[in-house]
Amino acid sequence: MQKLLDVPIATVTLVDKDRQWFKARRGLDLDETDRDISVCDLTIRATEPLEIEDLREDERFRDSPLIDGDPPILSYLGIPLVNSDGYGLGALCAMDSVPRKHSPAHIAILSDLAELVLELLEMRRISRTDFLTGAMTRREFRTRLERRMAGYNRHGRDCAIVLFDVDHFKQINDTYGHGAGDEVLKAVVSECSGHLRGEDIIARLGGEEFCLLLPETDADEAALAADRFRRLVSQIAIPGLPDVAITASFGVAPLLGAYESPEDWVHAADRALYRAKESGRNRCCVASVD
Ligand code: GH3
Ligand code: MG
Ligand code: MG
Repeated sequence: MQKLLDVPIATVTLVDKDRQWFKARRGLDLDETDRDISVCDLTIRATEPLEIEDLREDERFRDSPLIDGDPPILSYLGIPLVNSDGYGLGALCAMDSVPRKHSPAHIAILSDLAELVLELLEMRRISRTDFLTGAMTRREFRTRLERRMAGYNRHGRDCAIVLFDVDHFKQINDTYGHGAGDEVLKAVVSECSGHLRGEDIIARLGGEEFCLLLPETDADEAALAADRFRRLVSQIAIPGLPDVAITASFGVAPLLGAYESPEDWVHAADRALYRAKESGRNRCCVASVD
């Protein structure tokens, strides 16, 4: 992109409530900045490319720390990245240490690239999100487990997973139809998602099997949390299907440095889940570390 546009600094910048961060960058040695000083903050409010030929001459940026940065940023061209829902995600930016005006051809190239970036971001989002329920996919979840394992090994940070599987789900499908089954799966994720804390995650690992990742949670807390989710699931009522009783069985596995791989860790939770099924369903069991 840098080469295409003949600029020394090019970034894909994503903006959230109070930060901007660089998803991809060339020529700039920064990962993120406050949103206050972000020029992209202006770009994402627009629908058209924003070009500032010389930041020093623009009263909005005359005092910006970017001008005296390393490298200094004196000119800016940004294309807003707006997703199909009309939500501004960030901007594709070309910056230079000298004032400059881009040709219409340059701006057109950057706009085409912005389209590609949007498609890429959308594809990535899709690969991380289960289509039916909106829960995280198994593949992305595995990456998160790996990260948590590294966090435990380096800093001893507690973490637990809670694997659960809807009880007698086949019966729900058989009695009320596959569509009703799908509604149940959606309701389970929606109910659990509404009760996740900060960095907790819910993933769909398979058909009617889900897994919660609970960071900074020790064994006792995880057991309590699992039982809270068990009760939540058992209270779900599906509109139009008043007779469907939904329960699930839960297997809890605190990390405790006991596992070699994410698969090991999930397997331990699975064994506990199996015990919960065997001992009557609609209950939680905690993995024993041997
Ligand atoms: P258990 O209490 O032992 O877990 O029994 P179960 O009936 O829940 O387990 P089983 O593995 O026998 O059945 C799971 C069923 O889930 C079978 C499969 O057709 C159904 N299923 C898997 N994915 C989906 C889906 O996306 N939608 C619907 N509606 N059903 C699904
Ligand atoms: Mg089941
Ligand atoms: Mg199952």
